Amino acid sequence: MDTLFAPWRMAYIAAPKEHEGCIFCDFPKEERDRERLILARGERAFVILNAFPYNPGHLMVVPYRHTAEFGSLTAEEVIEMHRLASRAVAVLERTVSPQGFNMGINLGKVAGAGVADHVHLHIVPRWNGDTNFMPVLGQTRVLPEGLVETYRWMKEAWALE
Ligand SMILES: [Zn+2]
Repeated sequence: MDTLFAPWRMAYIAAPKEHEGCIFCDFPKEERDRERLILARGERAFVILNAFPYNPGHLMVVPYRHTAEFGSLTAEEVIEMHRLASRAVAVLERTVSPQGFNMGINLGKVAGAGVADHVHLHIVPRWNGDTNFMPVLGQTRVLPEGLVETYRWMKEAWALE
């Protein structure tokens, strides 16, 4: 059962490691969503592709507000995050037919949070057999050449959902 939880110990962030400051605060302000892999924007939260995905289609739903405190999320933020997550699941189901999903939040570095001081919800599509390729000990499965393509079809699918 251990391996089922491995993705959550290795939460990757959608940013070059050298980015200073908080990517979840900075990226939405930059107004270059395609480059930053921001898939969709709501009023209080946005959806961004993970640049170091566990699987293709690995997304994160993030409140704009900078907070490390899960309990400090407002009702409005929680509702919008849920709504965006539901749409993300629907988009993935329709496009890449996952056999399951991992959805979760890592609170704190020890729990695997790549960006520990800004709460974010991971959505990872799963297929039978993908655990065979489970990275171990913090190794990432980097799929840089696939990201632009993934962004493109997900953006199209998001608009249709
Ligand atoms: Zn932040």
